[in-house]
Amino acid sequence: SEPVLSVRDLRVEFVTRRGILKAIDGVSFDIAKGEVLGVVGESGAGKSVTGSAVIGLIDPPGRIAGGEVRLGGQRIDNLSPEAMRRVRGKRIGMIFQDPLTSLNPLYRVGEQLVETIQTHTNLSNAGARKRAIELLAEVGIPAPERRIDGYPHEFSGGMRQRVVIALALCAEPELIIADEPTTALDVSVQAQIISLLKRLGREHGTAIMLVTHDMGVIAETADRVAVMYSGRIAEIGPVRQVVQTPLHPYAKGLMGAIPTLVQSSDDRLVQIPGSMPRLSAIPPGCPFHPRCPHAWDRCSRDRPDPIQHAEHRVACHLYDANDPTAKAHMIHTH
Ligand code: SF4
Ligand code: MG
Repeated sequence: SEPVLSVRDLRVEFVTRRGILKAIDGVSFDIAKGEVLGVVGESGAGKSVTGSAVIGLIDPPGRIAGGEVRLGGQRIDNLSPEAMRRVRGKRIGMIFQDPLTSLNPLYRVGEQLVETIQTHTNLSNAGARKRAIELLAEVGIPAPERRIDGYPHEFSGGMRQRVVIALALCAEPELIIADEPTTALDVSVQAQIISLLKRLGREHGTAIMLVTHDMGVIAETADRVAVMYSGRIAEIGPVRQVVQTPLHPYAKGLMGAIPTLVQSSDDRLVQIPGSMPRLSAIPPGCPFHPRCPHAWDRCSRDRPDPIQHAEHRVACHLYDANDPTAKAHMIHTH
């Protein structure tokens, strides 16, 4: 069946005094109904920018420079700002790292839920309040008929993020984009929020794009994973395959250092010397070549196109069946 979200050759640029920076350079992926796609990578890899581009929230000096985004088959990358605002409210839910991005501290959570429900349905006040209590119960808020009248500051971080998830569900969106939804939470509640998201996605048939730097969260939650590096997808495939038998040398480095959900949430998760290049200094050819233990002369020259290899799609010359020299560089390092 048709994917809920389909992104093709997406390009995002930032226009600066020093020139045009390519933040996203040809990203393509699909997310099916009820599926969780994990998008993982280091800070600056382009994960959040990809999410922002999907929901039409790239602010100047950034701009979408090419590609297509389809939601339920319909192009949404070329909608007017007004039409896109309606798509965001109704068809795409958003969950950010800080729950207070989505909650107004001055209003009781019930008021915010009821208002959102009434925007999307013709339920009466009483009917919307009943629906809000059901949603709070569904996301695991204890005593929801009482807590509904609380203010956001009266909830713990984890409970607040549950309220945000309830808020995202009010419109019964086709797609939820969750950007580092557990990064600000105590480690003890991270796993609960993650399993809640996963369960709700399944039960509601929502497609979920889960953006995180935490490979442990991806391994626990995602059905498929896209590993991003320098604004491109280095490798994408079913999570088990990519975690257990990564193909791209960068993904191999990443998987060699899977943090668990109980470890800290810092960004240094790759045991590969060096760091990801700044946007202003992305090297030609494969952006990973200065750090890659397999690189050969072709890698600094040609940009690797994504290649289908078993169930993975990998952007690396090593897997180019048409390059007779590639095999010679497939040394074992991990
Ligand atoms: Fe390494 Fe070359 Fe593959 Fe890039 S294309 S990951 S440099 S082997
Ligand atoms: Mg980010």
